[in-house]
Amino acid sequence: MEQRCEVAVLGLGAMGSATLYQLAKAGVDVIGVDRHHPPHTQGSSHGDTRITRLSVGEGPQYLPLVRNSHRIWRELEALSGESLFEQCGVLVMSSHPDYDPLDPEDFTHKTIELARAYGIDHEVLSAHAIRQRFPQFSPVLDTAIGYFEPDGGYVRPERCIDVQLRLAREHGAGILTDETVTRLQPRGQGVHITTDKGSIIADKVIVSAGMWSSELLGAPFEGLLRVCRQKLFWFGLQDNASFAPLSPSFILTHGPGDVDINYGFPPLAGEGSMKIATEQYIEASRPETLNRTISTEEEQDMFQTQVNGKIAGLTPRVVKSSVCAYTVTPDYHFIIDDHPRLKNVTVVSACSGHGFKHSAGLGLALAQRCVHGKSDVDLSAFSLKRFSTMV
Ligand SMILES: Cc1cc2nc3c(=O)[nH]c(=O)nc-3n(C[C@H](O)[C@H](O)[C@H](O)COP(=O)(O)OP(=O)(O)OC[C@H]3O[C@@H](n4cnc5c(N)ncnc54)[C@H](O)[C@@H]3O)c2cc1C
Repeated sequence: MEQRCEVAVLGLGAMGSATLYQLAKAGVDVIGVDRHHPPHTQGSSHGDTRITRLSVGEGPQYLPLVRNSHRIWRELEALSGESLFEQCGVLVMSSHPDYDPLDPEDFTHKTIELARAYGIDHEVLSAHAIRQRFPQFSPVLDTAIGYFEPDGGYVRPERCIDVQLRLAREHGAGILTDETVTRLQPRGQGVHITTDKGSIIADKVIVSAGMWSSELLGAPFEGLLRVCRQKLFWFGLQDNASFAPLSPSFILTHGPGDVDINYGFPPLAGEGSMKIATEQYIEASRPETLNRTISTEEEQDMFQTQVNGKIAGLTPRVVKSSVCAYTVTPDYHFIIDDHPRLKNVTVVSACSGHGFKHSAGLGLALAQRCVHGKSDVDLSAFSLKRFSTMV
């Protein structure tokens, strides 16, 4: 069966659900397609929680997006009655023997500098203050430094996706799930989309297919995007564990290497565990062969290298674990741009593992781009042009 629409959004995870919602709300005739039934656990947007913070150490180009996201999540909460955004604060810390407080590459340093430059409400905490306020971080070294941002916290990714899809449908969006897009071809002034169940003709297409993006987009994306397997662990709490009543999300740099960093969330009510994760960019995977099981060795290694002696109040017992994937660009920044060969196709989903906090704002920006030809937020920093020597 062939359908027609003004805009088709291909992939309805974090980016796609936000874009579909904003387009439908703006009165656009829009259809969304997903190979699974979002929210689901097969892509990059599952695992209960995602950190959000205004002082985005990755760079100031992201600040307008995350500001808009915070506002939109509150609007979505009011419309849906769901709790999406927990403003419990975020604590970014550096605590390691080689720590140089003036190192411009240190993530805590970058976060503090950006907050100062952009007037973001924050406190800089000494090791003593960190220990006093947040006993779970009592193992920090005496030379540790902390950045506390009260307006940060975490969002609930599955709920955000579900709410935006529900509201999009109420605004008239068509949603096709368990349907895989297999091909995009130019057709007249628009795009012909082939799926495993039929086809769609759209004036414009947004591809938000996450880790599957390059298989759908072809060159140059297949040469630019890497899929990196990531592991999430929920460690059981000790019986006598002590947490401040409002504990923050956190990012802890505990050594000079790329792997000497972890992040996590406060224990969620009634769960008796704390979610902690780290990142890896070395080993690349393919979506169809991604190893989705976490081994006992990986659990033990995570506790020994990232938790033991660094975060107090946790047992080595893993009560839950999950595998998720980052879609990573060569410079770890986003790609949001028109496809260089496929006219009327916009690419949005390569978010290098830090996209969720920007997703609601990006949905708005992309909808504005479709409707008005440009967005309020400047997206030029995410252009493909910066890779011109590579593609
Ligand atoms: C472990 C982990 C931790 C993270 N932590 C944070 C964090 O703390 N803060 C933060 O801001 N960000 C974080 N991120 C990053 C953030 O979650 C991602 O950038 C974001 O969720 C990616 O959304 P997406 O829409 O690009 O991809 P997805 O949500 O995976 O959506 C892609 C969708 O496309 C569909 N699809 C794919 N191919 C096709 C096709 N051919 N046809 C139809 N449908 C298709 C898929 O089924 C899927 O639903 C984290 C990511 C991971 C993996």
